[in-house]
Amino acid sequence: MKNIAILGSTGSIGVQTLEIAREQANDINITALVAHSNIELLEKQIREFMPRLVCVYDKDKAKLLKNNIKDLSVRVETGMDGIIACATEESTDTVVAALVGMIGILPTIEAIKAGKNIALANKETLVTAGHIIMPLSKEKKVALLPVDSEHSAIFQSLNGESKQNVHKILLTASGGPFRGLKRASLEAVTAADALKHPNWRMGPKITIDSATMINKALEVMEAVWLFDLDIEQIQVLVHPQSIVHSMVEYVDGSVIAQLGLPDMRLPIQYALFYPDRKNMKLGERVDFIKIGQLAFEEPDMDTFYGLRLGIKAGKLGGSMPTVFNAANEWAVARFLEEKIGFMDIPKLIEQAMDNHRIIKSPSLNEILNTEQMTYDFIEGVIKSGK
Ligand code: NDP
Ligand code: MG
Repeated sequence: MKNIAILGSTGSIGVQTLEIAREQANDINITALVAHSNIELLEKQIREFMPRLVCVYDKDKAKLLKNNIKDLSVRVETGMDGIIACATEESTDTVVAALVGMIGILPTIEAIKAGKNIALANKETLVTAGHIIMPLSKEKKVALLPVDSEHSAIFQSLNGESKQNVHKILLTASGGPFRGLKRASLEAVTAADALKHPNWRMGPKITIDSATMINKALEVMEAVWLFDLDIEQIQVLVHPQSIVHSMVEYVDGSVIAQLGLPDMRLPIQYALFYPDRKNMKLGERVDFIKIGQLAFEEPDMDTFYGLRLGIKAGKLGGSMPTVFNAANEWAVARFLEEKIGFMDIPKLIEQAMDNHRIIKSPSLNEILNTEQMTYDFIEGVIKSGK
């Protein structure tokens, strides 16, 4: 029996994790669930999976939920302390880190300190605090298993081979809804346009990140940390069908890939049961005759220059990935509110990066301060209309 806590159970990854828990009910027990404010869905999840502990980040919503489930013996917590209580819940073996954004850093660190294995979806955590999280997970001897489909593919293609055998990683990207368009036609696209991803159904933030290709920049940095690689060893490859989830090229020229339909339940389930594989009753299987052709092309880093900026931030290192990530989080939230345009996202990130003095190996406090300073900087630029 696997005892699993889900941080972000009401989101896209969280809901799909619970679908697996439903399918594999004999092998998965849910210990704790965390949401921000969607107490309607959370209540349904609680009644079905009966965790011991839940957290609703929003205080008022937590009170409401407490009242709505007073017939159950489930503890309801709130705020960051509540998230950490769920991340460190005693009976849990594996924490699914599926919060969105940098809010995931602290709970992930606390879960590792408490000896929990991590199934990591929340890439922003590694991008900003990889230099803290990777050594800590080694020290605590916990497994850090990727949920992100590309990283799951790399992990499966590496299959225990030594790092010396790896020549490079081919990190695939769908190219998003605007593949093939140029800067001029992207100026006027709306949040509704950007939310229409051709292959994947995901939460709003990562869907916008896919449209800007900033998601791929975050994934390059995520791969550097997870697989202990040089950033130069990672090549981004646009693959519009999203069937080849990523590949590893070895020193002898051999290339190993992992393929599958674009369905996040596959990498989530793999992370939960690694090294076992479980029958996947949920969906269709790859039909190569139906697919016919697989295409690959170079990413357009001039149009989607957020990708170029992210790789630059990764190369600079230190606190720069935090600035890149925080500027993106703030800009994406304003874009979703229709306060700024699509091409303002990379523009604001570039301004924030230009404004920043790098801290070499930032502490957790320095990371969180840099995050706040970046939010303030971007908000100031937006207000001044520059
Ligand atoms: P969603 O926006 O769909 O879900 C986010 C979840 O986190 C929700 O349950 C939300 O609760 C909760 N949450 C957000 N903020 C807080 C907070 N302050 N306190 C407590 N809970 C909070 O995101 P996704 O599931 O799409 O993405 C999650 C992570 O996984 C991201 O880092 C993303 O990059 C990564 N990822 C996602 C993929 C996907 O297919 N969706 C693929 C690969 C990676 P509420 O519902 O109440 O707001
Ligand atoms: Mg991905």
